[in-house]
Amino acid sequence: MINLVLFGPPGAGKGTQAQILKNKYQLIHISTGDVFRFNIKSKTALGTLAKSYMDKGHLVPDDVTIKMLNAEVKKNPQAKGFIFDGFPRTQDQAIALAKLMEQKHSQINAMIALEVADDVLVERLLERGKYSGRADDSNGSVIRERIVEYYNKTDILKAYYQAEKKYYGIKGVGSISEISDRLCAVIDTL
Ligand code: AMP
Repeated sequence: MINLVLFGPPGAGKGTQAQILKNKYQLIHISTGDVFRFNIKSKTALGTLAKSYMDKGHLVPDDVTIKMLNAEVKKNPQAKGFIFDGFPRTQDQAIALAKLMEQKHSQINAMIALEVADDVLVERLLERGKYSGRADDSNGSVIRERIVEYYNKTDILKAYYQAEKKYYGIKGVGSISEISDRLCAVIDTL
């Protein structure tokens, strides 16, 4: 199995790159943001709860998010591996993910981070908000709050994976194919 964490702040391009990588390496792509949005659309209790945090640009609580992620992984017992996109976002999530992989007699092989400057992120998210239909992309103050959450709670995960010698940072600016070439160059060494 090969299990990757695709990492980076909101707007770094994780979702776009995950689509390319999942096809190339035959991996299951799990985006926690997408699962929350699906639940919001389907008007489930999980969706209502998640929306109250997402609309403010805050993280959904760990217990809820971890439970949901475990369920998504369990839906794919035959997977050759996973791309986790938008998860983990806190240290407790990273610990839960390690445990889950251990249960599968596997591990996270790498965290690959897309590095993009903050001013570029805000620009990209506002642009995406014009057509994505995502409320959290159309409002400048919600975007800034998401970036603040990233630096307060998520950015520390670099150190977590660096300590395990699993962290790879790549430049997240350029054309989509230039960036995916950089990602593949890392994955092919694993
Ligand atoms: P994303 O699609 O990854 O940008 O996520 C959109 C929103 O969903 C985030 O701003 C959070 O409110 C919520 N979310 C997604 N993934 C997580 C996670 N791993 N932990 C907590 N909240 C999350």
